[in-house]
Amino acid sequence: MRKCNVCKMKKPNFWFKKKPNGDFKKTCRGCERTWWRGFLRMLVKQRELSPAERLGNRLGYMGTAFIMMSPYLLPYDNIGAYTYLAGAILSLPQVWLAKQWNLVVVNLNLLIGYGLYLFS
Ligand SMILES: [Zn+2]
Repeated sequence: MRKCNVCKMKKPNFWFKKKPNGDFKKTCRGCERTWWRGFLRMLVKQRELSPAERLGNRLGYMGTAFIMMSPYLLPYDNIGAYTYLAGAILSLPQVWLAKQWNLVVVNLNLLIGYGLYLFS
């Protein structure tokens, strides 16, 4: 007998599927495949991230860190403007690959705006 983590009911072992490593799953068969969960599963496309997307994610985090600290660095000899540019360049691949075009436009605007600010 095992306790399901969704319906909290005690059910015999054959109600639980086995994982590839031999352990039983924590959710019983009855709760695993309700029509609602089946519907939600139908809406989601299962996939893994490509290597480019993984790289983009990490660069994106670094870029975000640069953008976050930029406002505080602006008073010190315009270091903030350079970190804004670095942040925009590092964040661009991630939002480009994810096709988040609104954020692509924001980053390009950041590049153009602070580029003009620095070189004029
Ligand atoms: Zn259950």
